[in-house]
Amino acid sequence: MIKIKLKNAAEIEDWYAEQVTDIIKDKIANYSSDITSIYAHKIITQLDDHAIRDLLTMPISGLIEKHTWAKAYYEVACFVSEFSDLHEYLKELYQIRGYAHHKCVAEYQREREEYLNKYKGNNFIDVMKNQFHSPCSAPDSVICQNNKNMEEFISSVSEEFDKVNDDLSKIINYDFLDEDTGSGKKDKSSIRAEYVKRLGIRVCPYCNQQYIYYFGDSRYLGDLDHIRPKSKFALFSMSMYNLVPACKPCNQLFKRSSTKQILNPYEEGFSNDAYLHLNYKNVRELVGIDPVTDMEWRVNKGLNRYPDKQKNEVISQNIDNAIKLFELDEVYKGHADEIQLALKRRFYYDWKYRNIVKSLVGTSSLITPKLFYGVSFDEEKYQDELMSKAIDDVVWRN
Ligand SMILES: [Zn+2]
Repeated sequence: MIKIKLKNAAEIEDWYAEQVTDIIKDKIANYSSDITSIYAHKIITQLDDHAIRDLLTMPISGLIEKHTWAKAYYEVACFVSEFSDLHEYLKELYQIRGYAHHKCVAEYQREREEYLNKYKGNNFIDVMKNQFHSPCSAPDSVICQNNKNMEEFISSVSEEFDKVNDDLSKIINYDFLDEDTGSGKKDKSSIRAEYVKRLGIRVCPYCNQQYIYYFGDSRYLGDLDHIRPKSKFALFSMSMYNLVPACKPCNQLFKRSSTKQILNPYEEGFSNDAYLHLNYKNVRELVGIDPVTDMEWRVNKGLNRYPDKQKNEVISQNIDNAIKLFELDEVYKGHADEIQLALKRRFYYDWKYRNIVKSLVGTSSLITPKLFYGVSFDEEKYQDELMSKAIDDVVWRN
């Protein structure tokens, strides 16, 4: 996962807000009366020009800090989509330990309570709790009592929230980026492609091993992925920092509509905290005579990116999730030849060789790492150079 560095972020934000605000305002004017969900209606009444701009151009993390309506919505979307992770985890525990062990029963209950407590005070969820509970017991204890109740509750919230999202998508919808509003002023069909063009990113930030660039006539090699899927996070389906330019395999084969939390490449990348590690078996592999096929992406233990320990743990988990979700171990095994080439170059292009080349070329400014390795070893250029992160790791971190 490569961190995206936009050279002209403010310019792109201005352009994007200018293009899309009118579309949303037009939809509000024409379709507000079709909205039946009170919750969706409340959100839409908040959407004045400033709020629309924030919604379109702020990262979700900043948006939910600034606007309580966005935060409340975001919490419900997380609540209904992230439970599958806990569910998966509990299922694994069941398989290992069995259902009935009394200690486990208490532990499972604690896990469920913890999950529910994370969203305490959210009005949408609280209203649903009161509809769910039986009159003689407190709602939380009934919901957390067993997995069946918890699942039933989550799906009832999910069902109600789907109605909110259906309504919101009448006003805010990714497909509108392709729609001709009939204003005649601009070619609306090109907003999506024009956005990719303006981002100017050449290589998929998720895998760093496929080209995704724009090549004219509104066509580009990749997709725009919703890092928070539009099925559950409809409100953010047109938010530019929720739209990640990615290659088609990463988007369509691996990520699809997964709600697994991963890094948002607009904010974070692997950087030095995850790297491609080669397991050499002997010196023949080390110097590139025999192929190295045993390789894996590793995450630094005790990651120390921020002073906040909990934040580091989340980053570490999100890196791990990204490695698994995009199947990076398997994908990079398919590049064993290129990885091997980097290894050979590391061995054979020593300082003596580089001095000979220098004396032949004469101009030292032309003797760059890129000349020898095909990449710049510069984190800022990872987004433009194929497999640059992996080659950097192979040459400097193995
Ligand atoms: Zn990719």
